[in-house]
Amino acid sequence: MTAQNSRTTGSVSTGSVTLVGGGPGAAGLLTVAAVTAIAQADVVLFDRLAPNDELALLAPHAVLIDVGKRAGSHPVSQTGIEELIVEHALAGKRVVRLKGGDPYVFGRGSEEVLACHRNGIPVTVISGVTSAIAVPAAAGIPLTHRGISHAFTVISGHAPLTDNELEGLTLLGSTIVVLMGVGTLPTLSQGLLRHGMPVGMPVAIIERGFSATQRTTVSTLGTVLADAAAAGVRSPAVLVVGEVVRLAFSGDAAANDLVARAAEFSVTD
Ligand code: SAH
Repeated sequence: MTAQNSRTTGSVSTGSVTLVGGGPGAAGLLTVAAVTAIAQADVVLFDRLAPNDELALLAPHAVLIDVGKRAGSHPVSQTGIEELIVEHALAGKRVVRLKGGDPYVFGRGSEEVLACHRNGIPVTVISGVTSAIAVPAAAGIPLTHRGISHAFTVISGHAPLTDNELEGLTLLGSTIVVLMGVGTLPTLSQGLLRHGMPVGMPVAIIERGFSATQRTTVSTLGTVLADAAAAGVRSPAVLVVGEVVRLAFSGDAAANDLVARAAEFSVTD
């Protein structure tokens, strides 16, 4: 924080807040700016998908607060998180709010930025590597490929899509990436089929990207429900729907097996 953007409330100088994108869980995918901000923090608020394992090393002087931890059966509410951020910043602390992936991709980062603005607290955002791109890549799946897909759409599966959205996705023909999509997989797959997407459209589900238990389940739109149930697929996972799934070339056994099965598929330039 620079002297210009500090503000005095009573006798305590206002601190600052930095929203930090922590990437998809691999320490190597933290940005240099993220590591620097974490190292300078007085307080770090982190949650479940942030890269937590290394935090004590990265932030040796900071108080670490786990806002994803379940107190009773609930994690700290969004309002509660915003109150904590504001409270520590108004007490003069350099606060880092560490979030999984990128703070502005389904991370409620913008709500936290607005809470800082409302309270006159200087806030900056450090972009992170989003799981939407990096987790498919960890399974060898590119989201675009010349001649196969020149667009990708990242959607939240938190709530079921509307018919208009399903129709739009089917017409657009982009690679579809779904975060938080395990629970709504039935409505998504059935909805896309209902709007005319082919039953043979490849689907990949990558669970726990960048962890020791990363797993890819490869299927098709017509069979994905049965395959996901048989595999016992669980959150957190990234879903990819699209022909690019056939390009998976490395990463794990499921991806390699897919390449063998898709041998008849020719990649055009
Ligand atoms: N801001 C985050 C996304 C937050 S929503 C980002 O940019 O990545 C949380 C969802 O992200 C999870 O439900 C899951 O769909 C996905 N996700 C994040 N990290 C993941 C990981 N390491 N492996 C698989 N899915 C992940």
